[in-house]
Amino acid sequence: MTSAKSTFNFCSGPAMLPEPVMQQAQAELLNYQAKGISIMEMSHRSDTFQAILHSAKVRLRQLMNVPSNYYILFMQGGASLQFSCVPMNLLKGGKALYLDSGYWAKKAIAECKKIGDLDVQSVVTDSVVRQLHIPADLCRGNPYSYVHYTANETIDGLEYDSIPEVGDIPLVADMSSCILSRPVDVSRFGLIYAGAQKNIGPAGLTVVIIREDILARVMPDTIPRLLHYGTVVDENSMANTPPTFAIYLADLVFEWLQHQGGVDAMAIHNQHKAEMLYSVIDDSRLYSNTVATSHRSCMNVPFFLDDQLESAFVREAEQVGLLNLAGHRSVGGCRASIYNAMPVEGVEKLTEFMKHFENNYV
Ligand SMILES: *Cc1c(COP(=O)(O)O)cnc(C)c1O
Repeated sequence: MTSAKSTFNFCSGPAMLPEPVMQQAQAELLNYQAKGISIMEMSHRSDTFQAILHSAKVRLRQLMNVPSNYYILFMQGGASLQFSCVPMNLLKGGKALYLDSGYWAKKAIAECKKIGDLDVQSVVTDSVVRQLHIPADLCRGNPYSYVHYTANETIDGLEYDSIPEVGDIPLVADMSSCILSRPVDVSRFGLIYAGAQKNIGPAGLTVVIIREDILARVMPDTIPRLLHYGTVVDENSMANTPPTFAIYLADLVFEWLQHQGGVDAMAIHNQHKAEMLYSVIDDSRLYSNTVATSHRSCMNVPFFLDDQLESAFVREAEQVGLLNLAGHRSVGGCRASIYNAMPVEGVEKLTEFMKHFENNYV
């Protein structure tokens, strides 16, 4: 029996997953492909799991059009552990440049500081509207080991509309909350990383895409084995037991994305949803979002309303099946995360609720 979905989850992460994926996982949970056991109970070295791991990598490579001189790694520890892995592996005794765009960029900067030397360039201007401003001569002739930026600030709702220009210096991007939401030219990057729990699958899996030439194959004594990209490559993402169930689900999500038409189709779908939401905010006297149009996130839409109405908004939304609309504890307000898996119907229901709420209270 099919039932129209009536509950929509706007959580920033772990976020909602596509319903057909959840249904397939449920159907296969106890007995995967007539093996008599669950994926969760299976050796990661079994042919069955090896096929899943391979499939997930191949599908991700196809979806993102990852060139052949890049490795795809599955790691653990979330994007937060990459804040440490990146400087450990890529600083190589030099200095990095970090673009400070908000909450998550600052977290990455704080971890790099513990490992080595860096410059920080603030890129948010806050005069009339908030926007990202990248200086033209970003690297100023400095031979940085790499430049790090946060492609989408999940909490601030700020998303770059273009890739920073850094010449020959390896560009590293935290794409945790925007990976697979639209096409990106992977060849412009040295390394891309993303925690899975926003746009890929359940928590516990981290995707890393790294260009061959920046990979150090000899392991320096100072880098723990599991944090060393060369080891993870050499061990085919199985330097220890990988998060098998998360990888299986990610493979199902990648397959679902392929059926949807890939990242090109997702970009159109996501643009449409974001426009619906921002237009209700901009047309209202109750809700506000001060990010410049060109740097508004397509994935995370923060909005503010009267402090006194905020908790009523979140509570009444929940009563009609619109869940997790409270903003991050560090900034308050409200936030709707509308990743790939969020159907248009969810955003429609939210915009109707927002208009209805405004009419009742303003
Ligand atoms: C969620 C998020 C993180 C943190 O991810 P974890 O997997 O919890 O470590 C880092 N960066 C961005 C941009 C995020 O959205």
